[in-house]
Amino acid sequence: MPDLLKEVKFVKGVGPNRVALLNRLGIYTLEDLITYYPRTHEDRSIPKKIIDLLHGEEALIEAIPVSRMSEIKIRRNFTMYKLIVRDDTGTCQITWYNQTYLKNMFKVGEKYKFFGKVNKKFNKVDMISPVFDSENSLKNTGKIIPIYPTTYNLPQNTLRKIIENGLAEIDEKLEDTLPEYLLSKYNLCDLNNAIKQIHFPDNFENFNKARKRLVFEELLSMQLALLSLKSQYEVESEGISLDKNVKMSELIDKLPFRLTKAQLRVLEEIDNDLESSKPMNRLLQGDVGSGKTVVAEIAAYKAVKSGYQVAIMAPTAILATQHLESFTSLLDDTGIKCELLISGISKKKKEDILERLKNGEIDILIGTHALLEENVVFKNLGLVVTDEQHRFGVRQRSTIAKKGDNPNVLVMTATPIPRTLALILYGDLDISIIDELPPNRKKIDTFPVTKEMDDRVNNFIKEQIDSGRQAYIVCPLVEDSEEIDARSVLELAEKYKNVVFKDYKVEYLHGKMKPKEKDEIMERFKNKEIDILISTTVIEVGVNVPNANIMVIENAERFGLAQLHQLRGRVGRGEYKSYCILKYQGNSDVIRKRMNVMKATNDGFIISEKDLELRGTGEFFGTKQHGLPEFKIANLFEDMQVLKLVQSIAIEIIGKDPKLEKEENKKLKKLVKNKFQDRIEI
Ligand code: ADP
Ligand code: MG
Repeated sequence: MPDLLKEVKFVKGVGPNRVALLNRLGIYTLEDLITYYPRTHEDRSIPKKIIDLLHGEEALIEAIPVSRMSEIKIRRNFTMYKLIVRDDTGTCQITWYNQTYLKNMFKVGEKYKFFGKVNKKFNKVDMISPVFDSENSLKNTGKIIPIYPTTYNLPQNTLRKIIENGLAEIDEKLEDTLPEYLLSKYNLCDLNNAIKQIHFPDNFENFNKARKRLVFEELLSMQLALLSLKSQYEVESEGISLDKNVKMSELIDKLPFRLTKAQLRVLEEIDNDLESSKPMNRLLQGDVGSGKTVVAEIAAYKAVKSGYQVAIMAPTAILATQHLESFTSLLDDTGIKCELLISGISKKKKEDILERLKNGEIDILIGTHALLEENVVFKNLGLVVTDEQHRFGVRQRSTIAKKGDNPNVLVMTATPIPRTLALILYGDLDISIIDELPPNRKKIDTFPVTKEMDDRVNNFIKEQIDSGRQAYIVCPLVEDSEEIDARSVLELAEKYKNVVFKDYKVEYLHGKMKPKEKDEIMERFKNKEIDILISTTVIEVGVNVPNANIMVIENAERFGLAQLHQLRGRVGRGEYKSYCILKYQGNSDVIRKRMNVMKATNDGFIISEKDLELRGTGEFFGTKQHGLPEFKIANLFEDMQVLKLVQSIAIEIIGKDPKLEKEENKKLKKLVKNKFQDRIEI
């Protein structure tokens, strides 16, 4: 059995430079390497005639050199090699640079295969630096070649070779991860075969079989993990039941607004959980602006008044700070004590907070990841709320929950996913949905525009600011990059401060700044001391500035739809008509469709469905923004059928063998443990 955990640096062809590049792709071990699946495949098995070649395409030709290679020294260390070849339809010139070893490679009159990019001008056909094979060789051509997502400085060919070396080390000696009974029942190919054929398929039929098997395995292990987690909660020892005499309505009656029907329904579901002795494990889904915070506040009130402490965890300091403000202003006259714990605070202050937390003098502790630290000790933690959960791993969720004795857990997320999918993916949680916005909301008008509209957009922003509003501008990058053609915060800030908006107050914000600086900028924006805030997506989650009514997103094509929707949700929070301007580059069909989805609807659920639909396998827009588990190979849209199938299989397996203890399920147990060891005890 090959050692899959072996560091990738021990694989043939991997020196220190390449280790760094591979690491950048998330490849650290031999296992990472062989499960680094291709983005697509290129069929180099079907040759074209020279006469049929099209400018710009990559193609395979079978041709015969008509003369010996000519060598042209352009300058020192720079030599061009040219070869004229022909087939029965025409001739083609092939050029390589500096590849001395090619000089005597080709024999006049023999047939070779060349695969490369075609340059065609005035019927003169060129191919630059193609890969090639002699007539009967299949090294570089004549087969289906994997194309990997790669990184700057790590050429496709090199990466392919390294993966090939990795596969050679495995030598088809992997132990299968699925039990025989599943393989035969569902007609799945074995693991070694699957791994080989997913990279270097003999034909597309084999590739599809390989993919089917790997998708099955990936989704099944997730389903098994979720189901056993859920059964674990259910059998676990008693949780905390909160005091039935503490009524949520005590606080609800004091609110400055009326809760929506959806908020009330969700609160009732939560209230039932809190009063029952079974620990709550609930996901609260609700579109941006649907009012999740107040739900958390009411739940927290109930917990504190029943004698317990509450932890509120948010993904950024900005958001945690905002929550603190919201909590304190609402709970001010109830005698409940809230504190903030983020990494930016002084050592002295921190020690003081930790001390009072341990004594039970603090009722609600709000913070970031800082809450997870070991020295954060509660006296009696009764409720944990994590906001915008897609930023936190499940592991962090359980780390914080372990600071209490089976506390109630509420996970809040603003990324709506289709309910069917949610039921499957969050199999370990109960789900509540706020499917209604507060009545005072105005629809946000969305306009996809191209660069040519810059001046008009800027004038529009000026008009709005002149009438008292504020604007956000979001860029994908912090600073300019040579590799990525997209706008950056620093570049835009420079230009807007000094030129375009020089009569206005422009500031910028990004994740690399110190938390204190960030908070200060945010505070000034809230206080209207800043007109235009240029930032990265750090302002994405939860930020609430009702006076801001314009959201401009630069290079909108680079964001997932769910994320665009989140960003757009930063405006339209007050009484003012709000606008979202999506500046995009590129004119592919998919980009236009995506932009039009954003224009057509403000409904997060529809957007997330469309997003899944418009994303192809392994596409650039990862699943990250959805808060869904990240898959190496499965695509939740394309593989919905498999997902449903494995869900029923998993239910059956766990039903008969909840802890996967039977001999026949040994492999499944190992599979689940390997993938989810930090979150599951079976
Ligand atoms: P999200 O669900 O995106 O976290 P928030 O909880 O930040 O949304 O709520 C957005 C804004 O809506 C807040 O200013 C909040 O006070 C307000 N709000 C919440 N519920 C209601 C309601 N029922 N009626 C009016 N305003 C509400
Ligand atoms: Mg929120």
